[in-house]
Order: sequence, then structure tokens, then C-alpha cells
Amino acid sequence: MKTALRDRIGKARVSTVPSVAARARMALLAYLDTTSGDAVADLADGTAATDIAEAALSGAPTPPGLACAQGCAFCCILSGADGGTMTEAEARRLHAALAPLAGQSDGRAWHPKACPALDPETRMCRAYEARPMICRTYVSTDADACAQVAEGTAVTGPGTLGPYHTYLAALGLSRAALKGTRRVATYALSRLAAAAVSGDDIDTALNAARHKPGELDAELRRSKRDLGRMKT
Ligand code: SF4
Ligand code: SF4
Repeated sequence: MKTALRDRIGKARVSTVPSVAARARMALLAYLDTTSGDAVADLADGTAATDIAEAALSGAPTPPGLACAQGCAFCCILSGADGGTMTEAEARRLHAALAPLAGQSDGRAWHPKACPALDPETRMCRAYEARPMICRTYVSTDADACAQVAEGTAVTGPGTLGPYHTYLAALGLSRAALKGTRRVATYALSRLAAAAVSGDDIDTALNAARHKPGELDAELRRSKRDLGRMKT
């Protein structure tokens, strides 16, 4: 079983920069070697991709000069109806954290586009331990730049750390490796959080927040473009 999966991962293709694809592939193969759980399920629900990124994040030094602080929440003002990409495992974790808060005032009482997981008074995440990788890796050296991004102005400064790009690549490889056998879905952060705080059960929330398959490809293209900018 693991041998066949190793072979599929080895042959899988993902559209990102080659070094990130290679890092994600090696990490997925190492995950297979060390996990005692159901590796196929872990690839399908994104547990493997998230664990890989979390390990990379915990081993990386904090970049110097970050402006990030408690209550600074311009990055929790989400664009469009999507708000960011999550795995199924992350979506389930976020739903479990937010479901007990259903009916309470949420971030949208502070800003109409804020994440429903945000506390509108303290501007702190009410699901901090369950926040997805996009939130864990988004940082900035300039909070004013984040405020501009929140209002739709494209400025340089804020962005995601390297482990987010590895996570996306690992998800893309997982999807390619499991093609025809298991679905590897992604979910919209803002739609999932809104469903959870309105009291929807997990299945209803997942159905409301599930991305079309092309959304992961689109996020990988954005990731590749951002990585290309970092090199210049
Ligand atoms: S990413 Fe920007 S808005 Fe978010 S905590 Fe850091 S400085 Fe503040
Ligand atoms: S989950 Fe938490 S950290 Fe992420 S956008 Fe929502 S409030 Fe902000």
C-alpha cells in the first residue's frame, strides 16, 4: 500500500517553483515513512500537508522587524467571499472551535469584511489554536500596509512565509497522487467560519465552503507568482 502511494507521490506533478515542489515531495515521502496512521486519509484531508508546514514553521526563525501584535487585525479583514484556502482537516478543526460561539457577535460587527472568527471588541482570534495555515503564516513588517491591503490597495510588505507555499505544493501533490481514488478538497475560510458561527452543522458548513477544484490551482498560481517576486 505505502509502496504504491510512494510511487504515486514520486510521479505526481504540481505547478509551483521546482525547489518548493521538491521540498514538498520529500516531506510527503518522509511523512509516509513515519506515520503510523492512515496515510491515504491524511493526504486526502490535508493533515499531511498541514503537519509538514507546521514542522517547517516551528523550525524556522521568526523574521526580524515584524509589526504583528495582539489586536492588530487588518489581516483578518478578508477579501471577496473566500478569505483564504483551507484543507478539510483545518475546516473541521475551525468549525469545532467556532460552533460553541454560534449566535455571539462576531468580527463583522467591527468590519463588514472581517473574519467571523474574530472577536469584534478585542480584535483577537476566537479560534487561535484552530486557525488555518494561511493565518499562521501571514505576517508583515508594516501594519499600515496591511490596512491598505484590507481596503483593496495592492502594496508590498505583507505576505505569507515559506511554509505556506510548501503546504500548497504538498496539497497539490496529494491531489495529483490520489487522483481517481480520493477527493482532495479545499475550503473557503470566510464561508466556513460564517457557517460555523451561524450554527450550521459540520456537513452543512463543509458543503457551503467547499471550493471548486480549480481554486487550489488558482492559489498555486498566486503562490508561484509571489515566490517569483521574492526572487527578484
Ligand atoms: S499581518 Fe499585518 S494586520 Fe496582521 S497582525 Fe501582522 S501587522 Fe497586524
Ligand atoms: S481564523 Fe482567526 S486569525 Fe484567521 S482570519 Fe479568522 S480571526 Fe483572523
